[in-house]
Amino acid sequence: MTVGILALQGDFEAHQKALTAAGLSARPVLSEREIRAVEALVLPGGESTTMWKLMEKTRIEETLRDVILGGLPVFATCAGAILLSSRITNPERRGLGLLDVTTQRNYYGRQLDSAVLHLTDLDTSLLGTEPLEAVFIRAPRFADLGPEVRVLARRDGDPVLVQEGNILAATFHPELSRDTRIPRLFFDILRRGRVREEAA
Ligand code: GLN
Repeated sequence: MTVGILALQGDFEAHQKALTAAGLSARPVLSEREIRAVEALVLPGGESTTMWKLMEKTRIEETLRDVILGGLPVFATCAGAILLSSRITNPERRGLGLLDVTTQRNYYGRQLDSAVLHLTDLDTSLLGTEPLEAVFIRAPRFADLGPEVRVLARRDGDPVLVQEGNILAATFHPELSRDTRIPRLFFDILRRGRVREEAA
């Protein structure tokens, strides 16, 4: 099983290290052929406007839409989650339309735009009760969630980790933490196409 990390721009190397440490084979992908050859995909954080421009140049938009709609498991963080969104604000622009949320870019003010928090408002059936370390870097906010979007963790009431079908998306950066709970959730999606409820 090989996970591809979209290497247009951003922190794809941190993801590669984290996935390799978790025992998975991971490699950067950029072309249509490379994207179609992997069994799962990570869309890393970085700068979403730059990513869009590069995506238009490389013409991989249709490929991404095609494989993700076809059920390829995807883990998207921060700018990667922005790219997948159905609606984007600040400024308003088009997204891939695959994650039914409105993503408000750079939502948290200057003072709060980067922070390491310990989240306690968690879906305990999937994540347990231990606080979850979450590194936020100029994070967006998810709003107006569609009916199929499930919230797995919140920050001050705002959803920060969500799942819709084969997509897991975070406004923070799990690849910068040692906690293995999020990679494990992603493994669940890899294996089953969706996250599994713990038996009650
Ligand atoms: N602020 C960035 C953007 O809007 C996202 C930041 C990140 O990925 N850490 O694209």
